[in-house]
Amino acid sequence: MKYNYLIVGAGLYGATFAREMAEKGSRVLVIDRRNNVAGNVFTQRVEGINVHVYGAHIFHTNNEEVWNYVNRFAVFNRFTNSPVANYKGELYSLPFNMYTFNKMWGVVTPEEAAAKIEEQRRAAGITEPRNLEEQAISLVGTDIYEKLIKGYTQKQWGRECKDLPAFIIKRLPVRLTFDNNYFNALFQGIPVGGYTGMVENMLAHENIEVHLGIDYLEDRPKWDGMADKVVYTGPIDAFYDYELGHLEYRSVRFENEILDRPNFQGNAAVNYTDAETPWTRIIEHKWFEFGKDEEGNDLPKTVISREYSSEWKPGDEPYYPVNDEKNGALYAGYREMADKEKKVIFGGRLGEYKYYDMDQVIAKALETAYQL
Ligand code: UDP
Repeated sequence: MKYNYLIVGAGLYGATFAREMAEKGSRVLVIDRRNNVAGNVFTQRVEGINVHVYGAHIFHTNNEEVWNYVNRFAVFNRFTNSPVANYKGELYSLPFNMYTFNKMWGVVTPEEAAAKIEEQRRAAGITEPRNLEEQAISLVGTDIYEKLIKGYTQKQWGRECKDLPAFIIKRLPVRLTFDNNYFNALFQGIPVGGYTGMVENMLAHENIEVHLGIDYLEDRPKWDGMADKVVYTGPIDAFYDYELGHLEYRSVRFENEILDRPNFQGNAAVNYTDAETPWTRIIEHKWFEFGKDEEGNDLPKTVISREYSSEWKPGDEPYYPVNDEKNGALYAGYREMADKEKKVIFGGRLGEYKYYDMDQVIAKALETAYQL
């Protein structure tokens, strides 16, 4: 065996695991189907702007160990995510906070906002929320559900809110304060210069070799024969050649434009929360990096991406696992097979079929590496 570990996938799980093992003296080979490292956090420089090629990634965590870890490989800026919701031309502050409630209902105090939510929750008669719709109404009431959640969620997931798990909407904070930071996290920011450089730094170690443009699944025996253990971060159902059936994923398509103006929408993310607009959100990448009144406004151009969500089909890139009951049961079958593997470890959003955030992926990779 030439290597102790073969890592399939150079995203955050693979890069973290590779780095940990390399530092402990293991010889590690990292391969990736794409011609670049960094998986879906890959960023590319266009017109002096780091473009989030596979969608917006804002690093946020409460895990100090993970925060210290990523700060070894990148300097983080002070970006705070505050998306704006555009509902048929009406703008609302996100996540749901006093600015949102004031705009929606004219309420001024936290008590008035709480009373309004309670009134709408009662009218809907929800006690124990069983799905995303009921969870949303019980958190913020029917008006906000109708204008800011229903259309967006149905576009994003291609499913009715009634048919989606409640946990998805609990990702968003609800606050009775004038705080529009999208995340309840102690630490937040974006690597200066983009994520690609951070992942390159993670992989820059004398015990790590990286080979790009290689499809592991096309010749598994060859690659498996090169290492004692394999860490696989691709889709778990693809690993088993869809033996038990296809897991469902949501895919995303981006329409990118370079515009001849310095400022298109004045914010990194604007969500289009009505059902009719075909895209879910527009990202203006320069605002991930520059303060709004800083140097970013001096760049004559801007890069925007319209994001369209679709059901994954073979040949598409999988982005989001659909963590509902049906897929949960199918995943349990694959998990059972995976648990019997002696040589292969499955990790990451696709390997574990879980709607992980970046910090959770890194925490899991660190934990698995420590155990080994
Ligand atoms: N969501 C919504 N309206 C919004 C933003 C989010 O209804 O304007 C819901 C939607 O169901 C989405 C979920 O909240 O899938 C989680 O949003 P988040 O921003 O965490 O999604 P991500 O950035 O991971 O796509």
